[in-house]
Amino acid sequence: MNYEAELNKELKKRQDIETALNESSIVAITDHRGVIQLVNDKFTELSKYTKEELVGSYHNIVNSGYHSRAFFHNLWKTIGTGKVWKGEIKNKAKDGTYYWVDTTIVPFLNDNGRPYQYIAIRHDITKRKQYEETIKQLAYYDQLTSLPNRHLLREWGNNLEENHMITVFFLDIDRFKSLNDNYGHYAGDVILQKVADRLWRCLRESDFIVREGGDEFIILLDNVYKHEDVEAFAGEIIGQFEKPIYLDHQAIKVTTSIGISINQLQSEYDDRSKAIETFIRKADTAMYHAKKQGGNTYCFNTQSQNYDMERYQQMEHELRFALENDQFTIVYQPFIGLQSGQIVGLESLLRWHSPRLGTVSPVEFIPLLEELGLIIPVGKWILKSVCYQLKAWQDEGIYLQRVSVNVSPVQLRHRDFIKDLKAILTDTKIDPAYLDLELTEGAILNVSESAAVINELQALGVSISIDDFGTGYSSLSYLKQLPINTLKIDKSFIHNLDFDEEVIVNTIITMAQNLNFTVLAEGIESYDQLAYLQSQKCHEGQGFYWSKPVNASAIPKLYNTMKHDQHDALISKH
Ligand code: C2E
Ligand code: MG
Ligand code: MG
Repeated sequence: MNYEAELNKELKKRQDIETALNESSIVAITDHRGVIQLVNDKFTELSKYTKEELVGSYHNIVNSGYHSRAFFHNLWKTIGTGKVWKGEIKNKAKDGTYYWVDTTIVPFLNDNGRPYQYIAIRHDITKRKQYEETIKQLAYYDQLTSLPNRHLLREWGNNLEENHMITVFFLDIDRFKSLNDNYGHYAGDVILQKVADRLWRCLRESDFIVREGGDEFIILLDNVYKHEDVEAFAGEIIGQFEKPIYLDHQAIKVTTSIGISINQLQSEYDDRSKAIETFIRKADTAMYHAKKQGGNTYCFNTQSQNYDMERYQQMEHELRFALENDQFTIVYQPFIGLQSGQIVGLESLLRWHSPRLGTVSPVEFIPLLEELGLIIPVGKWILKSVCYQLKAWQDEGIYLQRVSVNVSPVQLRHRDFIKDLKAILTDTKIDPAYLDLELTEGAILNVSESAAVINELQALGVSISIDDFGTGYSSLSYLKQLPINTLKIDKSFIHNLDFDEEVIVNTIITMAQNLNFTVLAEGIESYDQLAYLQSQKCHEGQGFYWSKPVNASAIPKLYNTMKHDQHDALISKH
């Protein structure tokens, strides 16, 4: 053996020892098996064991269980063959607390080149580690749900094997905005946490989940790509939401819409995060299609959807300037008294004509206005315009029992809603008794909160209708607690009036009459529908049978014909 080389190796070790040692060093010397022979005071201070307890024990007395077996195997392999090992170790003190040490272990070799002793020199890095953990937690994890965020997703992506199939699930909670609006933000947070827990339960170790922000979650499956396997997983997720989420004994039905894209991770390394971005975008697009189907379902990405996504983004862009560019108009559709055949009121309905997209349905753009917060200024504009119009008609001698305005739940919850409405009533000088506000069942879900606003509205003198009744969760008995004037039976019941629907419609009419509500049937298109509703003593109707929504300028003529029309005359036309 080369003596000089051996000597240099020994000297190098001494240097290692010298550089590692300073006054804050934690030092231990063990025999070749790892049995402690000597420790300094710093060691006992940190480990909380006495010297007597330590000397004679195996060094693994301070093991924390944090590191894998492979980690220690590697350490022993290094020092066992006479090499210096450096690394960071998490240890456990006698009192159960953990500490991190930056460690250098130097072996001493006997004449045969075998280690007979090890010296371990350590420094306490617990503070730094905690700091790093916090930073990591803040940078890579969502604070509300403790799920990883997008930054960690990038790291996950970098560790994937190339050519693997990556299936992306993009989830969005259905109507989360209205859950938030109706139950409050604290409840919204709890719902998000519980949703995260349920999703977490579906995952395998190799899968990855991210809270994308808001009510959106992304799940990535590594190498699950067969259609039936992916569908089974989607079914498992949907199944997680069969049971309601409980909030202080209140059961809330939460569902999600899921978009799915199945992709292959090609071997170009540099563009990994870009590739994953694209996979996610495709799943996001498919998610919108699941939404369109009414939610609580999943949808696979297809090529034609990618085109729809562009339209959506364009709509979002155009809507921001629609109000200032005068692209909104308001049309009116009459309410008819079913016994008299006379026009009793009008519903105002918003229309949007975009120069680039053409006429877009409110079913499509109202949710977007709500999401963008634009429903507040647009809603104010509608109220003001309708009130001015009402005043103008009254000045012309056109008197209707009421003109109604649809109010979004987002508006209703806005703190300035009542204040703004008061100002509009004052400015336009109309009698509030002629103004009716249509609220959806969803908007009044949380009775205790909405009751205050609705009572204030009643005190102002405006009347209240419940729109699309029958499609939401409210029961008639609970509406009894609120000062409501009219129930509008949703048009879906009127359109397919077969036996089941008749039972529902009858029940709503009978109970509403007992509670002294006016009942209006929406979406009457045929004489048969009208005749049936008349026979059931439904008070009012609205629908294409009489008129589609029309411009304000067409109302005087409509008013003059329908006012004089006797009901019999009206139906004898058929
Ligand atoms: P809604 O308040 O239930 O309005 C009634 C909808 O039914 C209108 O659709 C109307 O055109 C349509 N309709 C009326 N009669 C018939 C019929 O006989 N058959 C059929 N198939 N449909 C009929 P529109 O104007 O497309 O509005 C859709 C929804 O958009 C409204 O439902 C309402 O929820 C919302 N919306 C419309 N305008 C406004 C608005 O100014 N503000 C707010 N917040 N929402 C609005
Ligand atoms: Mg309405
Ligand atoms: Mg309706």
